Amino acid sequence: MRKLSEVLQDWEAVIGLEIHTELTTLDTKMFCNCKLSHDDEPNANVCPVCLGLPGALPVPNKRAIESIVKAGLATNCQIQKRSMFYRKHYFYPDMAKNFQTTQGPIAFCMHGHLNLEVAGQGAAERPECAFGDAEAASLASASAGATGLSTMKTADVTRVAGSSQGTYDTATGAGPVRHDDGSYTVPIRILRIHMEEDAAKMVHVGGEEGRIGGAAESLIDYNRCGTPLIELVTEPDLRTPEEARLFMEKLRRIFLTLGISDCSMEKGSMRCDGNVSLRRRGTSALGTKTELKNLNSFKALHDGLEYEICRQAEVLEEGGVIYQETRHWEPSRRRTVVMRVKETADDYRLFPDPDLAPFNLSDEFIEHCRAEIPELPDEKRARYEADFGLRRADAEQLAGDPAVSAFFEAAATGARDAASKAPVDKRVRTVANLVQNELQGYANALGGGATIADTGVAPAQLASLAVLLAEEAISSNQAHEVFGIMAETGDDPAKIVDERGMRQVSDDDALLPVVEQVIDSCPDQVQQYRDGNQKVIGYLVGQCMKASRGKGNPKRFNELLREKIG
Ligand SMILES: [Zn+2]
Repeated sequence: MRKLSEVLQDWEAVIGLEIHTELTTLDTKMFCNCKLSHDDEPNANVCPVCLGLPGALPVPNKRAIESIVKAGLATNCQIQKRSMFYRKHYFYPDMAKNFQTTQGPIAFCMHGHLNLEVAGQGAAERPECAFGDAEAASLASASAGATGLSTMKTADVTRVAGSSQGTYDTATGAGPVRHDDGSYTVPIRILRIHMEEDAAKMVHVGGEEGRIGGAAESLIDYNRCGTPLIELVTEPDLRTPEEARLFMEKLRRIFLTLGISDCSMEKGSMRCDGNVSLRRRGTSALGTKTELKNLNSFKALHDGLEYEICRQAEVLEEGGVIYQETRHWEPSRRRTVVMRVKETADDYRLFPDPDLAPFNLSDEFIEHCRAEIPELPDEKRARYEADFGLRRADAEQLAGDPAVSAFFEAAATGARDAASKAPVDKRVRTVANLVQNELQGYANALGGGATIADTGVAPAQLASLAVLLAEEAISSNQAHEVFGIMAETGDDPAKIVDERGMRQVSDDDALLPVVEQVIDSCPDQVQQYRDGNQKVIGYLVGQCMKASRGKGNPKRFNELLREKIG
């Protein structure tokens, strides 16, 4: 198969995503008051409603409706006051009532969009020929300007809705705007976000790989059945696997910030299917699409789409035909395989659910939801750049997870307000580095999905450590060591440094004798440096560190060595 970069020169990939998110932060299920928990004994949280027993009547969960309205407002959707639930029929034991309750043509949230900023290596996936003309670019730029949250918070629902209309050329896809640094911004339309319920979990035992084929028995756990689930469907505006991955990441950050789900792709509370088709560059008719399943990580989403684009190109270039089918991504074998030929909507006999009255959401309800939306990741990132002087990539990382951003802000404020001679911006940047590297790294090393809260480190402790590092009282290697001890013992970093005599020596009176001694004892290396070998300075700094038993300031050693030898 040809490489993606070559394929995308000749073919345009048209990608749409369907993203399911379980509203895991709610207490109860969608249509009954069974407890929402996947960790309990199988079938502990069930009742006549979620088991579909005759005569049981569903009652919608108001907090679930609040969650989806917030999701819609945060993604620039038009909130539909009037909508209703439908029954989607199918026969399978994971849904005992033989239909899934979902929404029909009108969902709670319709016609939204998110702007993607694609930078770095990923920006190169979209070939130069895939950037539209100036007119398309200016339309997209106008749209980009209208999507800020400040507009959204003050605008009424209908004005928000109007802002995303009419700025797209659906034949060519939305127009990206290229920036000077090679990055680009592209608006991705959202068709809808609708509410539905999850099915039960089935476990197939006695066969190979836990699949139903060849299994001796199948067990069903109805605890998950009836879990509130929102499904977001994008328009087919994505053009590269990287754009798909970034869209998913951005949406995850927004949903985490809204607090509507734990958004765990690992545990399956956030799941993504991708639709992809190809068409020759310069043509507008859509090709036949395939649907990809099992894209259960950001990497799988990217790599699965990349493979499928290249596979389709190969089939089409050899004169073959793409069939509308569902395919399963197998990461270990790096291929997609057919699961089933796609069923059509008619097969589901979708009709309005007579047990659930149509909705008529009030303005008060929608405004109440809007008022509860916290500062969203894009806004927060901009504030971190402006107030804390962080680089964009760092600001984005820190702003994406509400727990991380709360920790960062507390620690950064502590370091900023501390009595110290180190420059304020240096202290804050040091906090940002320590949070991203030491704190997150330590949490990851704990395993089992541990978060920064599980490290037991307090923001004030991290702030003290950052100040010591910014003042160059300790080196970054020592900071790593102090962090580990601090996380284990809970001790204050200054105390750890003093007790263990780790304080770094930056005083020239103490460092110079060491430098002179090393210069005397390494004449060969000194000569090599004088002959133009700059790299040998690293060896000499290492000798100085050894001679000072790790306490000397390596940066100052480096400077002194260059002065003395040069
Ligand atoms: Zn129930």
